[in-house]
Amino acid sequence: MAYEQLKQEIIDYSKEIGIDKIGFTSAEPFSELKARLEEQQELGYASGFEKGTIEERTEPKRLMPGAESIMAIALAYPTRIKNAPKSVKGDRRGMFCRASWGTDYHIVLQEKLDKLAAFLQEKIPGFECTSMVDTGELSDRAVAERAGIGFSGKNTLMIAPELGSYMYLGEMITNIPFPPDEILNEGCGECTKCIDACPTGALVEPGRLNAQACMAFLTQTKGFLPDEHRDKLGNLIYGYETCQVVCPYNKGVDFHHHEEFEPDPELVKPRLLDLLQISNREFKEKFGKMAGSWRGKKPLQRNAIISLAHYKEKSAVNELIRLMNQDPRPVIRGTAAWAIGKIGVEKGYKAIEQAMEKEQDQEVIEEMQKGLAFQKSS
Ligand code: SF4
Repeated sequence: MAYEQLKQEIIDYSKEIGIDKIGFTSAEPFSELKARLEEQQELGYASGFEKGTIEERTEPKRLMPGAESIMAIALAYPTRIKNAPKSVKGDRRGMFCRASWGTDYHIVLQEKLDKLAAFLQEKIPGFECTSMVDTGELSDRAVAERAGIGFSGKNTLMIAPELGSYMYLGEMITNIPFPPDEILNEGCGECTKCIDACPTGALVEPGRLNAQACMAFLTQTKGFLPDEHRDKLGNLIYGYETCQVVCPYNKGVDFHHHEEFEPDPELVKPRLLDLLQISNREFKEKFGKMAGSWRGKKPLQRNAIISLAHYKEKSAVNELIRLMNQDPRPVIRGTAAWAIGKIGVEKGYKAIEQAMEKEQDQEVIEEMQKGLAFQKSS
C-alpha cells in the first residue's frame, strides 16, 4: 500500500517538474527483447552505437543488483519552427531533425531524473537508483513500452497516443518495488505508411529496422555516405524522420511547453556554406549544446556538401573546390569532388582534373572519378 501512495506522490511530483508522462515496470529481464537483439546482431542490422552486452541491455539486475522496478519518463518536443529562415538559391540551408532541436535532451532528461531521485532519496532511507537517457544499456523503448508509456510502432519508435512519437525517453532503475503499470492495448492496426515511405527499405518488416540502411543512422556515420543514398538526404544534415512525419499518430502534434527544446532557427536551419567554413571552436560554441553535434562536425559537413550537390548550388563551387584541394580529411575532399561533379559547371570539372594529379588517397581519387563521370553522362 505504502508503495502505491509513494508512486502517486512521484507521479504528482513528475508533473510539477514538467515530465509529460511517467510509467512504472518491474526490473524483470526483457526476455523478448533479448531474443530480438540476438537476431538483429546475427542479421547485421545493429547500428554499432549500442552500449553494453546483450545481457546488460536486457537484464536490469546486472546494472543494479538491488533493482526492483524501473521508472520510465517521456517529454514531448516541438515539431514546427516559428519564423524559420528560407532556404533559397544562392543561400541554401540545411536542417537538423527535430530530435536535435534546442538543448541536448540527454542533459534535460537527466536533470529531470536527478530531481526524481533527489525527491525519493529524501523520502526513503537507503533509496538506490541508476538512470539513463538513450545512451545507457537499457532500451528506452522497451522500458517505456512495458511501463505503459506507449506502444511500439511499425517504425520501431515508441508512440504515446496523446503525444505521438516526437518525445524523448529516459528511465531510472530503483530498489523500490513500485507497482507496475499496464502495457497499453493499442497499436498500428493495418497502417503501413512508415514502411511504404522509408526511402531505403530500412524497415525490413513491421517493427524491425536495419540500422545500417536507416538514413537517420547514416547521417551520423563518419565515412563516405554510400552512393545510392546520397540523393535521398535533401536538406537534412542530421537525422531523418520520414517514418515519423507520415505517421497518423503525429498528425497535428506540436508541443512547445518545454522552453529547453525550442529551436533556434539559425542553428537548426544553418547556412550550409557557413557550416563548411566553421572552425572547431566556433562549432563547439554554436552547436555544442545540440544533440546533433555529438559526432563532431565532420558528418554534418559531409552531409552539407551532399545537400549543396542535391540543389546543384553553383554558388558553392568555389568553396567546394577549396575543400577538395585543402581539407585534410579525405571524406570531405572526396565528397566535395563528387559534389562539384554533380553540380556540373565547367570550371569544377577542370578543378577536379587538376586536384586528381596530386591526390594520394585512393578513396578520394575514386570520388573524383565519380565527379568527372557526371560530365560524361550530362
Ligand atoms: S505510420 Fe502507421 S504503421 Fe507506421 S508507426 Fe505510424 S501508425 Fe504505425
